[in-house]
Amino acid sequence: MTTVTLTLDRLNIATHAEALQLLDGLYEHSPWVAAQALAARPFKSLTDLKYQLALALQNASKEAQLQLIQAHPELAGKAMVSQSLTAESSNEQNKAGLTQCTPQEFAVIQQLNSDYNARFGFPFILAVRGPRGLGLNKQQIIETFSRRLLGHPEFERQECLRNINRIAEIRLNDKFGYEPVLGHLVWDWQEELSAFSDPGYAEKGQLTVTYLTEAHRACAQFIVQHMHDCGFDEVRIDAVGNVVGRYLAATPTAKTLMTGSHYDTVRNGGKYDGRLGIFSPMACVRELHRQQKRLPFHFEVVAFAEEEGQRYKATFLGSGALIGDFKPEWLDQQDADGIKMRDAMAHAGLAIEDIPNLQRNPADYLGFVEVHIEQGPVLNELDMPLGIVTSINGSVRMQCEIIGTASHAGTTPMNRRADAAVALAELALYVEQRALKDGDSVATIGMLQVPNGSVNVVPGRCLFSLDMRAPNNAQRDALVADILSELKRICERRGVQYKTEETMRAAAAPSAPAWQARWEAAVNALGAPLYRMTSGAGHDAMKLHEVMPQAMLFVRGQNSGISHNPLESSTSDDMQLAVDAFMHLLTHLESN
Ligand SMILES: [Zn+2]
Repeated sequence: MTTVTLTLDRLNIATHAEALQLLDGLYEHSPWVAAQALAARPFKSLTDLKYQLALALQNASKEAQLQLIQAHPELAGKAMVSQSLTAESSNEQNKAGLTQCTPQEFAVIQQLNSDYNARFGFPFILAVRGPRGLGLNKQQIIETFSRRLLGHPEFERQECLRNINRIAEIRLNDKFGYEPVLGHLVWDWQEELSAFSDPGYAEKGQLTVTYLTEAHRACAQFIVQHMHDCGFDEVRIDAVGNVVGRYLAATPTAKTLMTGSHYDTVRNGGKYDGRLGIFSPMACVRELHRQQKRLPFHFEVVAFAEEEGQRYKATFLGSGALIGDFKPEWLDQQDADGIKMRDAMAHAGLAIEDIPNLQRNPADYLGFVEVHIEQGPVLNELDMPLGIVTSINGSVRMQCEIIGTASHAGTTPMNRRADAAVALAELALYVEQRALKDGDSVATIGMLQVPNGSVNVVPGRCLFSLDMRAPNNAQRDALVADILSELKRICERRGVQYKTEETMRAAAAPSAPAWQARWEAAVNALGAPLYRMTSGAGHDAMKLHEVMPQAMLFVRGQNSGISHNPLESSTSDDMQLAVDAFMHLLTHLESN
């Protein structure tokens, strides 16, 4: 194998034949992928090259895609044993320790290989060097294998292709001698931070960090320490437990740009939700400090103490406090163990009387930006590393009830029933159709229950929830109105009653055009594909939106973007792009 590192210039000016030779070995026995991608020369960046390769694969016929999948060796399979792997595959399987399997591990993997092949008709493909490029361990490989064996065939075909692209990405990095150094750093910080987890979860290897627990306070200390190490000028923990780091401008009178995200997690959550939006800007400050560079504005990075509303029903407590929306009645809430928030705060040494002083004066601020893992499958499916958020969806939540008549399941003829559950079933199908019609609305019945139901009783009552979201308030309101009038129609026709109670209403938070444009300029500067999307989930940016302009940048998640789940994942390559985009935004702000 050649050890001369490849450069983009060299690739861009090479003849087609030479270029093909330079990209040899990226896609297993399938040079046609690189051949297709070369039509998009000149590549703007390594990121662009990676995307063009993925596009070539996306645009290929299903037969060609399957042939490529078939060209891959089985994991720890016959080719490995007979040492007939390509040099690249051999190196990867070696890094994952697959060449040193115990006989038991080997037997498990062989069984998985044959079950997978029998089910899908192609070999299982996994980028065994993993999201950080260091190599997954055998346990992780076996777990992923077992899980994917249960997948839908169409999904599995796509997931194999995505893994093939990831394998190619790492092979390309090797060819270019490229290391996503800051991406690795951010990835490693998240890994280290995930060592702190609440009791009951930590023992099981699960990540749970809820407001002001010991693990939560250890997280705050970790962030404080690393902010100091990065070169922030001021670092403090505020009265609600937010960690606030400031990297000061050259001139004291300058305005401030705020960024940040949350470090609390849901129960048994992922390592990147929230935390990526704290560590990405920290990596930027580390670089700025290292280069002895000052920005023309103060840069404030806030690690919000609470966003998820897990220990107390006080969602967005951390960011809420900065806009004067800390509700004093929260202090008397009790957690599951009867500990009042007030006491938890005192125990943590927080000065409750200072909370009102946390409110920022919007006149001092340029705006708020936030990086967040997408928490959805969109970017992963599109093979795009970054997404521009155009709006955070507005939402309405309701608790509802349908009241029919409970009666004997054996003696009540079908045409004389007042079945509350069947009425709900009809509504559920309508909810799905109605939200789908908008394209970008979502609506969910996440809880449904027949209280005191019985196998031989026609359901007399049905309790259910509604969660309805859309990118703007008008679209959301139309969605809600249509669903409620359908509920009314269904209940009238079926002769049942209903009740609804609105439990939450949040306004949509459209991105400020100027800030969205800055993220777009940054993504363009990286040569990465530009994709605009709404955020289905709520974020801290929603709170800051109430007082200042905001815009968010999404980062692709692996495993089809699953989140609020331990399978949440993202690569250090994508994290590097988030840092690079952030750096671009920071250093080009003065010229705007
Ligand atoms: Zn989050």
